[in-house]
Amino acid sequence: MSEVTASQKHPKGLWVLFGTEMWERFNFYGMRTLLTLFIVNSLMMSKEDSSLIYGGFLGLCYLTPMLGGFIADRFLGNRYCIMLGGLLMAIGQMLLFFSASIFSSNLDLAKTLLYVALGIIILGNGFFKPNISSMVGSLYPKEEKSKLDTAFTIFYMGINVGAFLGQFICPMVGDVVNADGTRDIFAFKWGFLAASIAMMIGTITFYLLKDKYVITPEGKPIGGLPKNNDASDFEEGEATSAKFSTKSIGIAVVAFVVLTVVFNQLFGQNWIYSIIYGSGLTLAGLILSDTSLTKIERDRILVIYIVSFFVIFFWAAFEQAGSSLTFIADNQTDRNFFGWNMPPSMVQIFNGIFVVAFAVPFSMLWDKLRAAGKEPTSPFKQAVGLLLIAVSYFIIAHNVKDLGNSGLLAVKWLVLLYLIQTFGELCLSPIGLSLVGKLAPKRFASLLFGVFFLSNASGYALAGTLGSILPATGEQFTRAEEAGIDLQAVLDKTVEPTGKDLFLLAQFNIAKIKNESLEKELKPIIEQNNKMIETSKKENENFKLDREKLTFPSVDTLTKIESEKTIVAANPVFAGFEIHNLFEFFMVFVILCGVASVILFMLTPTLKKMMHGIK
Ligand code: GLN
Repeated sequence: MSEVTASQKHPKGLWVLFGTEMWERFNFYGMRTLLTLFIVNSLMMSKEDSSLIYGGFLGLCYLTPMLGGFIADRFLGNRYCIMLGGLLMAIGQMLLFFSASIFSSNLDLAKTLLYVALGIIILGNGFFKPNISSMVGSLYPKEEKSKLDTAFTIFYMGINVGAFLGQFICPMVGDVVNADGTRDIFAFKWGFLAASIAMMIGTITFYLLKDKYVITPEGKPIGGLPKNNDASDFEEGEATSAKFSTKSIGIAVVAFVVLTVVFNQLFGQNWIYSIIYGSGLTLAGLILSDTSLTKIERDRILVIYIVSFFVIFFWAAFEQAGSSLTFIADNQTDRNFFGWNMPPSMVQIFNGIFVVAFAVPFSMLWDKLRAAGKEPTSPFKQAVGLLLIAVSYFIIAHNVKDLGNSGLLAVKWLVLLYLIQTFGELCLSPIGLSLVGKLAPKRFASLLFGVFFLSNASGYALAGTLGSILPATGEQFTRAEEAGIDLQAVLDKTVEPTGKDLFLLAQFNIAKIKNESLEKELKPIIEQNNKMIETSKKENENFKLDREKLTFPSVDTLTKIESEKTIVAANPVFAGFEIHNLFEFFMVFVILCGVASVILFMLTPTLKKMMHGIK
């Protein structure tokens, strides 16, 4: 157990950072379990929109670290940024708590609060995340850098102990069923409150312990204000920072604007996603424009870029956890887990559990292979990660194949999916970080980490897009049936829905209103119906929907909806392919990640050469 003996010799500061990051990830992943369910069930938005919001939110969480890293290096230092980030995230979660407390009396305000809260959490994460990771590195003086791999393994476990706790507590208090078996849409707020409290504990822990433990062996504070740094804090040659000419910065700004517009206009991405993709590509180009780069450095940077491109597909598939996989756990899964009916949001917990269980065995496996001279190169490990995630979706795809619209998937298959995905994550995520650390020329290190994080961000944006092509799931078929509509027949285009049918499908967020003025006209009617359904359900447990008791728009409007098709009920489409069912949905991930994996495997010999001796 060389890991254990080594870990005993780690500086105490590592445990402070471990604890702080643990509480922060509690807050982040705990909230992630509830976010999309809250948006769909309480704020009554569609699954499609909630997936897009989720992807944009996660993507921006990995865009702002560029800013947080920059502000820390120039002005505030790591410590202040961590405390500021922690505080902001705690405030953001508190705003989510308010949003989840008032939605039934003021839906519009609740939606506004949601966006403000997510914005604040995004900023907070940007201040927090890069700085806590870079402090782990700074704890070790030059001669102890060999301990870094183990340090990051321990730290990665802290991340996942936190994720596990958050994914247990937040669903326990926030994802609750009423006596009649329906979801308590008023409980989400307790989950957000728990997340906020966790973040406060993390921030206070760090505030109280930092001066005593987060220090160099000589007792100097680590991560203080940059103006207090003296030259001895830097390693030899490190002062040479990246300097870009005004011309290349000018070109970069123009390129960023052009690329963002191209993604928005040509590829139909929303502005947030376009900004994420645009900034990743621009920063990558900017670094390569530096004329001081040698051929070897340039080759190594290209390897970082190529790997960064491929990991996009991994995160896009992996982050389905908080959207489509949670919807499936909610609506089409038998969640009986050893006699206990798990809350759907809690199914995500298996990722955290498996990382904690397998992070050390995996790093021991690499050590063993290294000792035997058989350790694969990093790109090879990443290709394995991609292959594993493709396999995980292949297994699920085959298990949902015969479920139809009302069958239930056994929860063990989702557990298996998370097990295989976690193995993939352990081949890809910590390895990727250390690969960037090893390949990046020092003067570009933080910027190249920025590119790497931006590729994660792009993966999350893609996760949002892919999550939004989830076809209708079980409960939507049931709801439509209650309202007297054969949804399958509508989607198969074997019946022509009437204006009333289309209105009802829009009312249930199954069909999409394609026209803004129509949306404005229908909104008050939809809200009125929702209120009626809600109060009737409260008054009578056995309430059955009678479509004729609902309020409908005027006959004129209904006729117009029918003839002009301003409300559309159709299967989602991705890259020109119609997604008819869950099998086809999951196969999208199998194909994307499978193809990415095969290409990366084929590229590994070339990449190995381009790494010039680094593994
Ligand atoms: N789960 C890890 C974390 O939260 C990795 C996420 C990532 O790198 N995209 O830090």
